[in-house]
Amino acid sequence: MSSRLPDTPHSLSPDTLADRLEVTPAKGLTASEAARRLAVFGPNHLRSLRPRSLVAMLLHQFRSVVVYLLAGAALLAFALGDIPEALAIGVVLLINGAIGFVTEWRAQRSMEALRHIAETRTRVRRDGGGAVIPAQDLVPGDIVLLEAGDMVTADLRLIRAAGLQCDESVLTGESLPVDKDSAAVAADMPLADRTGMAWKGTAVTRGTAEGIVTGTGMATEIGRISQLVQEARPEATPLEARLDRLGHKLVRLMLGLAAITILAGVIRGYPLAEIVQTGVALAVAAVPEGLPVVATLCLARGMWRMARRNAVINRLASVETLGATTLILTDKTGTLTENRMTVTRYVTEDGATEIAGSGPVTAAADSPLSRALQIGALCNSADDGAEQAGDPMELALLAVAKRAGIAPDPGTRVAEHAFDPERRMMAHVHIESPWFLYAVKGAPEAIVSASNHVLTSRGRVSLDAEARARWLARVEAMADEGLRCLALAMKQADRADAPPYDGLTLVALVALADPLRAEVPDAIADCHRAGIRVVMLTGDHAATAARIARDAGIAGDGPKVLEGRALAGFDPVYPDKALASRVAAGDVFARVDPETKLALVAFFQRAGHVVAMTGDGVNDAPALGKADIGIAMGQRGTQVAREAADVVLRDDSFATIVAAVHEGRIIFDNIRKFVVYLMSCNISEVLVVGLAVGIGLPAPLLPLQILFLNLVTDVFPAFALGLGRGSASMADRPPRDPAEPIMGRPEWTRVALLGGAITVATLVAFALALLELHLPTDQAVTVAFLTLALAQLWNVFNARQPGSRLLRDGEIRNPFVWGALALCLLLLAAALWVPGLAAVLSLPTPGLSGLLLALGMSLLPLLAGTLYLSRPAAAGRV
Ligand code: ATP
Repeated sequence: MSSRLPDTPHSLSPDTLADRLEVTPAKGLTASEAARRLAVFGPNHLRSLRPRSLVAMLLHQFRSVVVYLLAGAALLAFALGDIPEALAIGVVLLINGAIGFVTEWRAQRSMEALRHIAETRTRVRRDGGGAVIPAQDLVPGDIVLLEAGDMVTADLRLIRAAGLQCDESVLTGESLPVDKDSAAVAADMPLADRTGMAWKGTAVTRGTAEGIVTGTGMATEIGRISQLVQEARPEATPLEARLDRLGHKLVRLMLGLAAITILAGVIRGYPLAEIVQTGVALAVAAVPEGLPVVATLCLARGMWRMARRNAVINRLASVETLGATTLILTDKTGTLTENRMTVTRYVTEDGATEIAGSGPVTAAADSPLSRALQIGALCNSADDGAEQAGDPMELALLAVAKRAGIAPDPGTRVAEHAFDPERRMMAHVHIESPWFLYAVKGAPEAIVSASNHVLTSRGRVSLDAEARARWLARVEAMADEGLRCLALAMKQADRADAPPYDGLTLVALVALADPLRAEVPDAIADCHRAGIRVVMLTGDHAATAARIARDAGIAGDGPKVLEGRALAGFDPVYPDKALASRVAAGDVFARVDPETKLALVAFFQRAGHVVAMTGDGVNDAPALGKADIGIAMGQRGTQVAREAADVVLRDDSFATIVAAVHEGRIIFDNIRKFVVYLMSCNISEVLVVGLAVGIGLPAPLLPLQILFLNLVTDVFPAFALGLGRGSASMADRPPRDPAEPIMGRPEWTRVALLGGAITVATLVAFALALLELHLPTDQAVTVAFLTLALAQLWNVFNARQPGSRLLRDGEIRNPFVWGALALCLLLLAAALWVPGLAAVLSLPTPGLSGLLLALGMSLLPLLAGTLYLSRPAAAGRV
């Protein structure tokens, strides 16, 4: 095939186009031909998501004001003839750059891996069989299979379309779905009228189809028109933005302190070079360099952990919102239940037939039961071949029909009316000589009200109001047992295009069991303990939903159930008062449609909730987008829902939502922990130097020493805090207020307290070393340095939540913390005892008494912190 694609595929017949693109639609391309075309046409991408190159990433580490300042300081040292100092600053910069580089590289690698998990896949025909491939591997000439809920992943010329409708609003702005067929249209038709095409980026809202790929990647309509073409920028999360603002605030605050210190130095007559260098060192001490790096790593690791627990995050920003979730609106089928359906009972006018075990099912010929089994198998889009593809409910109907020896020929099907979510029914039309048989199934209320007859073993009898009420009572009884109910109906007509849902004959009710997922009751109990409310929104019958809600533990014995009907036209902004209070208290919303879901999300948000909502259908997309956290199902959900969601559950399970919320809390907590940690360390450095200079003591810390602490040893404990697994008590806390800042009053208080304690301990150690131990100043400086360094290390144990228990909740349980401590102690030992390093850092060993003094004093801030955090009254913020 040439590398030129047809210009106007919509004007060609499918056969001509297939010839041009050298493909046999019934077989599809061969794998080797597809690979060849992929090499010619390139991957089916719109955006070039090229990751930042390694060199760019490396350079990025050195592009910051702090680095410029330090480089200036190194040059100054060099000019003043202090070569070792200049070199040392250079080495510290390199080490810090290397830490930053490795972290960013690792974060990027995990993001790429996550993107891979979340990639869109497409059903194609290749090598004569069906296959599911990553959408980016599609090539011109591929045969793509579409069904309702799919995203169209390339431009397609339709070969076959059954009731196909596409939402093309992304391309045309037209919000109503457009009907599609396989007919050719004139070459000069505008885009919106080329009904024989399905466009990349649009959504299939109804029907099924098959099409030939006519363009991929940038050679599609959306590729040509859209603005998506620009390089995709990594999205800055609100959290990152907040950290950034915090960083700026800090820099200003700390630089102010540094300026005052320098001024004091000048007044006290310190040598100018020393003052300038101390000023630079203070500026460095003041800036929490570790912050962005640790934050990135923390987010990336958190996302990884969520992915490992089967929750894949589409939007980074959701990570922090997840942790603040106060209400989960969950659907039932497949999320709370297993979505493994088995038929357990049929009810016909002749009575109930229980279906047990897995053995053969007997049904007398021409009985309503055998008709019911046949209709269940005929009104069915599932494929019970090796792949078992399709709706589990339909698979169950096929399975039970097979057990009764009924396996209808799908070749007799002449028309299909896909499931209509508004009417809650679907119909397939089959040839049943001399008639056409309309096999219909749907929600029992819908079918019963659409039927005017009922089938008995003696033939059809008419269905009066009393009989209808009797049937609905039977439905109610089955639903009370938690069974899912469907009704089966039929009609015979002399044409295949009659309205499918008029004048039906009710044949049977069928009950299906869909067991509750085993992990759900615990997960719901976890939610309640964590102050998160769970409400069920389902399309199913109220009684079935109520029973499942009770079994799952969503509500006690009498769950408050509202039916969708009562909520028609519910206005979330100006709701009817009485209704609003019932809605606010509701546990289960049954028979709700997508608009009602949207209204409910809006209502609960206005009531102050942070709402997470699950959804799987095309029509759920608006509500998924509106919810603070939209959650789509990876297995059961449509592609459209998955694209609209913030989180995709790979295992569809409710328990995974709870796990993700928990991880979200851990991430926010960890970020808060290392921010408090880094800030209390930084502030103590500034205060130690500032106060000493102010009081007129010799400088207790030299610029290089501050650099060493700040750029090397502080970073590792902060990392360790960022990687923590969270505390046991976190699951018992109510959700945090989403408006709550990372650094609120309680956090500032802790920073002041801990930073103050470290400062006092260091200065006292320094003074004692000078005045009591009578050490020379340079050794006393080592004592001060060590006290500060060790106190900062132990300070990591002060990161836990106020009011939490040291042994149960503390960082003692975080193995990364111990690793970081070991590493930092080694680094400190090296600074002290590796001769070259000790000389450069000006750290002469102070003797045993000096070392013991430093060790002893360094423990005081830990003690102070432990006392403060363990006071129950300190549990200001939980
Ligand atoms: P949930 O919202 O928890 O997933 P659900 O699957 O019952 O529950 P919908 O998919 O909205 O919700 O379906 C609503 C009702 O329509 C079902 O309870 C059932 O009675 C009927 N129904 C669903 N799918 C089909 C189908 N393929 N054929 C016939 N009837 C169906």
